[in-house]
Amino acid sequence: MESKYNFCILGAGIAGLSLADALHERGYSVILVEKYDIGSGASGTPGGLVNPATGRRATKTWKAEDCYNAINLNLEKVQAVTEVPFFRNNGLLRPAVTQKMVRKMRNQYEKTPWPDGWCYWLSAKKIKEKHPGITCIDGGLWLPIGLTVDIGAYLQAYANYLRANGVTIQTQCEATAEPNETNWQITDGESEFSAVHLVHTIGYASTSHTWWNHLPLEGVKGQIAIFRADKNLLSFDHSISSLGYLARFKTDNTFIQGSTYNHDFDDTEPDNGGEQYLRKRLARTLPELAEKAELIDQWAGVRVTTPDKKPILGRHPEIKNLHLFTALGSKGLMYGKFLAEHYADHLKNGTAIFKKVSIERFD
Ligand SMILES: Cc1cc2nc3c(=O)[nH]c(=O)nc-3n(C[C@H](O)[C@H](O)[C@H](O)COP(=O)(O)OP(=O)(O)OC[C@H]3O[C@@H](n4cnc5c(N)ncnc54)[C@H](O)[C@@H]3O)c2cc1C
Repeated sequence: MESKYNFCILGAGIAGLSLADALHERGYSVILVEKYDIGSGASGTPGGLVNPATGRRATKTWKAEDCYNAINLNLEKVQAVTEVPFFRNNGLLRPAVTQKMVRKMRNQYEKTPWPDGWCYWLSAKKIKEKHPGITCIDGGLWLPIGLTVDIGAYLQAYANYLRANGVTIQTQCEATAEPNETNWQITDGESEFSAVHLVHTIGYASTSHTWWNHLPLEGVKGQIAIFRADKNLLSFDHSISSLGYLARFKTDNTFIQGSTYNHDFDDTEPDNGGEQYLRKRLARTLPELAEKAELIDQWAGVRVTTPDKKPILGRHPEIKNLHLFTALGSKGLMYGKFLAEHYADHLKNGTAIFKKVSIERFD
């Protein structure tokens, strides 16, 4: 371990690992310190989607092409040096389950300039051919480019990749950082080192941190359920997003139903209310599957969000070598890699940060 770094990043979720990679690639020395384990925050969900058509209207996400290309390339890069598969390019079906949803989705679809091959409108007949038994009113969308990712496994593999390439990563470490004139003096209990810059990618912990209490950060608890069902009920390959999402990994007989969005919560553990909510949503999309599937596990985490639902990137208004990268909301994969590259470019070359995600929008 060195004693001097350009950057010390606290928090090894999607944001921290992606930023460590981007800074290291640009020639900076980086240490990443995680209080618990890799992906032990909101990023630890066992199943998530890369879905550029979000919400009830299936709106194309901000900078969708750039974000999708960045995460897709990164998944391939890390998968190439990892034996166990952690992601699948299995497409995403978005059936509309109410008349209102059909109208909104169709409207949005017609006015959106989707890149070639990304998104198609299918009739209800076509959707039901693709997925017998699915609830569908008057059509919906098919996104062949949708990706399904075991995010926890991806991040473990990503950390291994970064370590092998020279990034120092410490887990189970609580670091204390004190600023002096030009550096941060950091101790993790066992060792001491210094860094020019300190970056917080600490997820939910940033919502209660004194350094960031001028920002409108909010924690939103999310719960997912892992179900098992007979193979004949899981003969489909794609994932689904309608009322919530169903993440499908082809090789076994389990699937993941997500997610709840709870703004008012007392603890961060999975709860009964969440389980009931997920079961009801599954029953509206796939009634037979909901009836026959057996719950085998649950998981919950807390995402960070802002009033405009966009991430936050930038420096503390007074402590200039202190940085924040958070509020990835429910789109950690879509936004995380692209914005890490974007911020690393800003730090290296002074290129402007997009106003929509800059911390300065809350000044
Ligand atoms: C139910 C649910 C479903 C989701 N589904 C999807 C999905 O389908 N697609 C998708 O892209 N994303 C999904 N996500 C992930 C989501 O997008 C998150 O917003 C994203 O993972 C947040 O990443 P992060 O790195 O900002 O924060 P986190 O993953 O929360 O990482 C913060 C890390 O900082 C650590 N930490 C905290 N304090 C300290 C400290 N003082 N020092 C050092 N380390 C510290 C924590 O232990 C944690 O590991 C889901 C999340 C949830 C909860």
